[in-house]
Amino acid sequence: MARLGSWIEPHPEGIYVRPADAWVDPSQPKARALVTHGHADHARGGHDAVWATPETLAIMETRYGEQRANPVAYDETVRIGEVEVRFVPAGHVLGSAQIILEHAGERVVVSGDYKRRTDPTCPPFVVTPCDIFITEATFGLPVFRHPDTGSEIDRLLHRLHADPERCVLVGAYALGKAQRVIKELRARGHDAPIFYHGAMERLCRLYEELGVSLGELRHTAGVPKAEMAGHIVICPPGALNDRWSRRLPDPVTAMASGWMRIRQRARQRNVELPLIISDHADWDELTTTIREVAPKEVWITHGREEALKHWCMTHQIKARELNLVGYEDEDD
Ligand SMILES: [Zn+2]
Ligand SMILES: [Zn+2]
Repeated sequence: MARLGSWIEPHPEGIYVRPADAWVDPSQPKARALVTHGHADHARGGHDAVWATPETLAIMETRYGEQRANPVAYDETVRIGEVEVRFVPAGHVLGSAQIILEHAGERVVVSGDYKRRTDPTCPPFVVTPCDIFITEATFGLPVFRHPDTGSEIDRLLHRLHADPERCVLVGAYALGKAQRVIKELRARGHDAPIFYHGAMERLCRLYEELGVSLGELRHTAGVPKAEMAGHIVICPPGALNDRWSRRLPDPVTAMASGWMRIRQRARQRNVELPLIISDHADWDELTTTIREVAPKEVWITHGREEALKHWCMTHQIKARELNLVGYEDEDD
């Protein structure tokens, strides 16, 4: 009998699915790419043909322009070569999917990036039992246990209301994190306009077009300082400390990221108000998911592989590291 998953070949630049002659999230241009979600380290440009959810394709199109796109809706099954392929929600960002591959009586699930907590901008992660679970491990250390999102949002609102002369500037990745923070604020009853850095505009618009309403958003350009006092301003993490922020009224610097658990990281960016809000599974979510998916083998794509591999072995699950390159932790 052939080794389990012998038809799936991990390469440094991605996962090659031989009987489909297709790659999952390849970091280099390929003839056929299956893409889990729109973050730039998973969704590169230049492929001849792409299979992804309609939302992911729309995100890729804003970045790379028109491409040969094959939209696959959640739960739809398509046949590529000799493989049945299905996309199911991963709960990571709008359009994010796990890719389910079936061939030779075996089922392989590629998680892409995922989380298990509710996210008002995308449908929740769907548990799909399988033979091989190919998982991320961005926060694959027991020290990473993300707190409740609502309590982090409450801390943000509390800080905002404590000092109406200032604004709170929140650094958040432009795809996913920014829209999730805005939506969580709305869910906590914050109806005031939220100001944004120009780099947020395109993706916030796209989210709106795809049915995620974000309430009243305003560009900071041309707005007098005083008008932004007592308001939340959202920007990409890279803009937190740059000249641009001087146009804001004495900003309290915040950042929404799973890495804010690490004091050192918050200090590096001069973050006064670290908000631990992550779009990746924490340690408990990773291990719970592996238990629920109950695979014969776990293959780990990127992140802190060592501890998760060890956890699998102590739970009698075969595990291996794939050592894929080119995936950054940018999109936490
Ligand atoms: Zn991602
Ligand atoms: Zn990633």
